[in-house]
Amino acid sequence: MKPIHLIPLANGAGAGAGWAHEPELSLLEQLAASLARTFRTPCRIRPDRFDLSFSRDERRNQYYSTAIIQRLERAADPDARVLGVTACDLFVPVLTFVFGEAQLGGNCAVVSTARLNEEFYGLPRREEMLLERLIKEAAHELGHTFGLRHCMDWRCVMASSHAVERLDVKGADFCKACRTTIVEEGYW
Ligand SMILES: [Zn+2]
Ligand SMILES: [Zn+2]
Repeated sequence: MKPIHLIPLANGAGAGAGWAHEPELSLLEQLAASLARTFRTPCRIRPDRFDLSFSRDERRNQYYSTAIIQRLERAADPDARVLGVTACDLFVPVLTFVFGEAQLGGNCAVVSTARLNEEFYGLPRREEMLLERLIKEAAHELGHTFGLRHCMDWRCVMASSHAVERLDVKGADFCKACRTTIVEEGYW
């Protein structure tokens, strides 16, 4: 099983003004610990930040996730699974937004915390809810890199979820069938 590398993605275009929409380190640390347990492989946070300003769509004020994944793939260590994590809001052209995107059977995935936060919906911030949603979304996108498609079992983390309500009802674990695929793909 390849190790997982978390890469913090932020907008570094505002030279002098620093990085914008960086994911919080404490959140990344908790995510890394959870993913290491779920996938039973080391998961570490890469110290270098990755600038995703190139992928920004001015009109939408969002970042194009497919372009980010392509760029991550070129920069990434081929002997690791790579998950980019950002607080920037992501999109693909046919959808209003995405929580994340992954290469099916590939090496790279990306997730955003932008819409996992209760503050986005005008509600008070809830740290534990943000973390729980991020853990599910990250496991889901990484699941796609093992070749998994969406699962019909609504409790499985591979169930499709394009709204936070759907994320909240599903579990953080893989069902038996999905877990088996991960074990086989990952050569445990
Ligand atoms: Zn999916
Ligand atoms: Zn499943």
